[in-house]
Amino acid sequence: MTARAFELPHCEACQRPHWPPREICPHCLGEPIHWRQANGAGQVLSTTMVHHSLSDELRPHLPLHVATVKLDCGVRVIAYLADGPQPSGARVIVTAGSSPSGQEALVATPPAPG
Ligand SMILES: [Zn+2]
Repeated sequence: MTARAFELPHCEACQRPHWPPREICPHCLGEPIHWRQANGAGQVLSTTMVHHSLSDELRPHLPLHVATVKLDCGVRVIAYLADGPQPSGARVIVTAGSSPSGQEALVATPPAPG
């Protein structure tokens, strides 16, 4: 798994991030929107386990653990739980990584101890 810069679209008018990407800001309807590096720290809101996939590449890696994560910046994302299930409320760090089949994906892992 290769980590890449974690970026979110930001509105230049109100300076707030959002997700998913949009052509205009969902908060103030402003623009322009530019991608900026973001802090991936957040909290698991809910989790689910994916047992079936139509993807031949993903099928050998099932089941997959997936979470809805509320980032500290207020944005909610869906991320693959690379280290297995996490309880609701657990702190995680979301990064731009890869799914088990090598596709680009948001990946959530527990923060490093200490
Ligand atoms: Zn805005």
